[in-house]
Amino acid sequence: MTRILSAIKPTGQLTLGNYIGALRNFKNYQEGGDVLYFIADLHALTLPIEPETLRLNTRDIASFYLASGLDPKKSTLFLQSMVPAHAELNAILQNYLYMGELSRMTQFKDYSSRLKGKAIGLGIFAYPALMAADILLYDTDLVPVGEDQAQHVELTRDLVHQFNARYGEILHLPKTVVNKTGARIMSLSDPSKKMSKSDPKGDIFLKDDMDVIRKKIMSAKTDSGTEIIYNREEKPGIANLLTIYASLKNISIDDAVTHFKGYRYGEFKKEVADAVIDELEPLQKRYKEILESGEYLAVLQEGAERAKKMAEPLLAKVKEAVGLLNA
Ligand code: ATP
Ligand code: MG
Repeated sequence: MTRILSAIKPTGQLTLGNYIGALRNFKNYQEGGDVLYFIADLHALTLPIEPETLRLNTRDIASFYLASGLDPKKSTLFLQSMVPAHAELNAILQNYLYMGELSRMTQFKDYSSRLKGKAIGLGIFAYPALMAADILLYDTDLVPVGEDQAQHVELTRDLVHQFNARYGEILHLPKTVVNKTGARIMSLSDPSKKMSKSDPKGDIFLKDDMDVIRKKIMSAKTDSGTEIIYNREEKPGIANLLTIYASLKNISIDDAVTHFKGYRYGEFKKEVADAVIDELEPLQKRYKEILESGEYLAVLQEGAERAKKMAEPLLAKVKEAVGLLNA
């Protein structure tokens, strides 16, 4: 059976970008595959974060996982930090990634430019090593991610080739799946910039009140034209709203463009806002119930126990291969 793995890191409040690019698609894989979804809390420590914020964000993501339709009977849901094998494999694999390639990672360049003038922790630089460990630990076949994470999966693939060439067929080669539509949702106030939860600007948060969401969409930055066409370079604001609409309605961008032919920008935005609200209002209601019930905790603990067992054989194989003695 195809093994699928993905994660979100609790660095901030979940955005519509995380929802469309990742979370929304997660439940679709749990029917036909053997799926693991975790919360990358160790990765969240790679940028400065207050302990209480990290705890709150973690609880939120766990609750949103369940609210989005992930079923703990079908998916293994857990926290990265609850399965020590992630950190152990990271300690081994970091020796097979190199300073040159790590310094060329787009995410590292983005994050370190944000930290300009401040100290940059080793964890941000070494981020892809832990991510490689996350993926390789479970012999993962497919990693569904937004476009921004595809580069890290590529690096993981390079590492597999290199490691296996030296030690034999130990690591399983993963593949990325990036959705055609919605892989990169942009900021509503600056559509040249990705919507990001750790650097919010023009973000729609999954926890926003519905009237706030409507206001944000109605005031989204567009252009001085009047035509609703898809052109990422010349009309990035309109293109972004079309992407959001098409993703949520499960239609192609072309069909969305046809649907909005002859609309004015104001009417167009109103329908996009309706589509977002139709989707997020019930999601938010379920999220609140789950968060209040606290049921996510038992789910994460049980998931971690399962994940620990799944991770054991690969970790033992890698230790053996590199010459570490297994207990
Ligand atoms: P951070 O700012 O901490 O990097 P993020 O919003 O980029 O947060 P991640 O935790 O890095 O979120 O990524 C979680 C998932 O959401 C990944 O699969 C990532 O590719 C996807 N994702 C993140 N931002 C977007 C976006 N703007 N559009 C589509 N997918 C996105
Ligand atoms: Mg990110």
